[in-house]
Amino acid sequence: MSTFSLDPGEDQLAVRDWLHGFAADVMRPAAAEWDEREETPWPVIQEAAKLGIYSVDFYAQQYFDPSGVGIPIAMEELFWGDAGIGLSIVGTTLAAVAVLANGTDEQIGTWAPQMFGTPDDVKVAAFCSSEPDAGSDVSALRTRAVYDEAAGEWVLNGTKTWATNGGIAAVHVVVATVDPALGARGQASFVVPPGTPGLSPGQKFKKHGIRASHTAEVVLDGVRVPGHCLLGGKEKLDERLARAREGVKRAGGRGNAAMATFEASRPAVGAQAIGIARAAYEVALDYAKTREQFGRPIIDNQGVAFQLADMKTRIDAARLLVWRASWMAANNRPFTAAEGSMSKLYAGETAKWVTTQAMQILGGNGFTREYPVERMHRDSAIYTIFEGTSEIQRLVIARAVSGMPIR
Ligand SMILES: Cc1cc2nc3c(=O)[nH]c(=O)nc-3n(C[C@H](O)[C@H](O)[C@H](O)COP(=O)(O)OP(=O)(O)OC[C@H]3O[C@@H](n4cnc5c(N)ncnc54)[C@H](O)[C@@H]3O)c2cc1C
Repeated sequence: MSTFSLDPGEDQLAVRDWLHGFAADVMRPAAAEWDEREETPWPVIQEAAKLGIYSVDFYAQQYFDPSGVGIPIAMEELFWGDAGIGLSIVGTTLAAVAVLANGTDEQIGTWAPQMFGTPDDVKVAAFCSSEPDAGSDVSALRTRAVYDEAAGEWVLNGTKTWATNGGIAAVHVVVATVDPALGARGQASFVVPPGTPGLSPGQKFKKHGIRASHTAEVVLDGVRVPGHCLLGGKEKLDERLARAREGVKRAGGRGNAAMATFEASRPAVGAQAIGIARAAYEVALDYAKTREQFGRPIIDNQGVAFQLADMKTRIDAARLLVWRASWMAANNRPFTAAEGSMSKLYAGETAKWVTTQAMQILGGNGFTREYPVERMHRDSAIYTIFEGTSEIQRLVIARAVSGMPIR
């Protein structure tokens, strides 16, 4: 077990500085353009791939960093650069984490490299859980997976929505229900390999923020995948379903494939929100020192200086929650008080609040696209919605700390 330290080691600081350089020199200058274009910034992803920032090796190294803070440090720096481009770069990792959380070693070895492609031919991956009638309530998934014994194949049918990189991904990871009677516990995750017939892109959404990241529906119409595309394998699934059937008879059961992915990724998503908040805070601090009204810099007024003090305090508090949860996860400490959810809740709310304050400090300029704070404010808004809304995080925390079936 790695002891807890708030001092990142030399390796982590080197990674942070390296990513900061990429964020400042490559992402920041491109941010406004890709936000306006509302398109996936393939050239920037390719540049990241050439430098080794977009690769299986890089994320594996950060993911398995024993202190746990490798991923949060990386996320914070990239999203400090720009959230829309940042999500285009790291969106693949949500699908990769699903394979890591539910797949066998062989499946991880097969699919992770195909998700990223190569620097000369970059690919992205998508994680498809949400559906039109199953957002917060992941137990309500309607996408069905039926096993065709004779062919040794799974047949997937349904419509997924809100999928980051949905329809433009090489590899899609799809959560589907195998036994609807079991609710969330009757679900499993499947890899849909590149070019599989029956998977087609649906509507692409025009969004309020993170506009450089592609979000779309994915339609699954008689999609056939080989048996080995079931993450974890059929034997394990059959055992799990049998246990669930017993459990359901006794207690009414909880827990599923999608939730395993979300639980592991929540602190990382919190770290993304912190990156946006820190970026907006820095712009506001500089602005407050240089903008003069009434013959003095506006920061000379306590009203403005105290706002900045509160912004910095909340950002640091959010980072501490994220680092704690990340350290706990890396050291196999159970989230008994839903510490992962706490970190995502607080970081998401902080990003929204800090970017609102930053816009206020910049006055009229904060409201224009001449300054980046307006974009950061729009980008931050998703952090109280995806990967579990703030209300759902509160529900998870409240249930964990009370032991009560709060609804
Ligand atoms: C840009 C973007 C990217 C996304 N990327 C992905 C992705 O890659 N893969 C994927 O699978 N999904 C993705 N999502 C989906 C996202 O996780 C869902 O939007 C989110 O979980 C909320 O679901 P919903 O939109 O259906 O809202 P609903 O569940 O309909 O919620 C609506 C409101 O009701 C509240 N509410 C619901 N239930 C309760 C309750 N029990 N108690 C209190 N309040 C409640 C919610 O908090 C919210 O305020 C993405 C979404 C967006 C917008």
